[in-house]
Amino acid sequence: MNAEQALERARDAGIHRLRIPTPFAVGRVNCYLLEDEPVTLIDTGPNSGKALDELNAQLESLGHSIDGLELVILTHQHIDHLGLVEIIAEHSGAEVAAIDVAVERIANFGEDAEREDAFAGGLMLRHGIPENVVYALQAVSRSFRGWGAHARVTRPLRDGETMEFRDRRLQVLHRPGHSPSDTVFWDSERKILIAADHLIAHISSNPLLSRPLDGSDDRPKALAIYLDSMRRTRELPAEIVLSGHGDPITDHVALIDDRIAKHDRRKEKIFTLIEQEPRSAYDLAQAIWGNVAVTQAFLTLSEILGHVDLLVDEGRVEEHESDGVVHFAAVGNSRPAEG
Ligand SMILES: [Zn+2]
Repeated sequence: MNAEQALERARDAGIHRLRIPTPFAVGRVNCYLLEDEPVTLIDTGPNSGKALDELNAQLESLGHSIDGLELVILTHQHIDHLGLVEIIAEHSGAEVAAIDVAVERIANFGEDAEREDAFAGGLMLRHGIPENVVYALQAVSRSFRGWGAHARVTRPLRDGETMEFRDRRLQVLHRPGHSPSDTVFWDSERKILIAADHLIAHISSNPLLSRPLDGSDDRPKALAIYLDSMRRTRELPAEIVLSGHGDPITDHVALIDDRIAKHDRRKEKIFTLIEQEPRSAYDLAQAIWGNVAVTQAFLTLSEILGHVDLLVDEGRVEEHESDGVVHFAAVGNSRPAEG
């Protein structure tokens, strides 16, 4: 089965992919219309007039409308997926469903974005990213905020619960990693998984560092969490995985195995660099990606720390702090870290 056939099978099951534009490098975001009872939209696209117009047009071409939506399901907290939710809920009166642990986060979007930026800024400085880079990135993040929005979740979902529709049942599965709130929806009868950004065919979903949903400011081990989530998804006998960006996945086991192997190789590469000399996460990112470590400092920091977490857990790497900056050293390597 190729991607086109997978989309056709999804359409036969009343699931229509809507491709909504975003201002972000990732390009369009996939939202899904579920023609069922209730009439359901999974994710909304970002908060922009262009996204709203396109959503409207694509719903109309399928004989639906924003006003006719009865339920909006949010797959995770990222703004390219939920920016239009409040506008849609106001127009249609639709219920808004999301995983229970994300409800507060989604309700306090503005305040939360502020805290998320502070968290990211602190982390970046602690891991050796220069101040001017941190400030520049925070300005970019602030300028993107308008594409998000807060939303009142009227229907909190529990991990493992089953949502009942007229024509289907969807099991709610919390799969944190890419973000702490990632949720996938499993139709075991049709063997279709609606996975949003948990699994994307053409991009390796980044386990982005984010504040934990419990309100603490401890840095979560995002990659370890994500690998665990992928292993659980691997066990599902899915035939079609519908993603938040790009085309459907028709062999998720091979894709997951490939991603896990790639992470393993990257982890070993990072270990080799740390073995040569103690380095900060920023040093490591520059050694691997060069200038991308500057322009995409937070993304690459997330990636490095995710792998270093695994090495620390394996007892191969340890952390040293001097002058407020963390360096990683191979265990048993006695050379001191340089500030
Ligand atoms: Zn996304």
